[in-house]
Amino acid sequence: MDGVFIRVEVAGSARSDAELARRLEEACPVDIFAATAGGVRIVDENLDECVLCELCLDAAPPGAVRVVKLYDGGAALER
Ligand code: SF4
Repeated sequence: MDGVFIRVEVAGSARSDAELARRLEEACPVDIFAATAGGVRIVDENLDECVLCELCLDAAPPGAVRVVKLYDGGAALER
């Protein structure tokens, strides 16, 4: 099930970055990112647990991750 309130996007080039995947998995307090052999997987069932802490943005290079507030007209947290 996708998030009703939140969508998290990882840019195409960053999605297969195993090191970034590991950092994101470690950073997010509500386990929205899973590190797999192929890179980052978004854990859809946890999306709406997002607390907008921006730790994923801190852990990622600029432009790699966006947190989209679907409940707020698609306003996004991004760097
Ligand atoms: S803003 Fe915080 S809770 Fe939301 S996806 Fe990023 S690290 Fe996880």
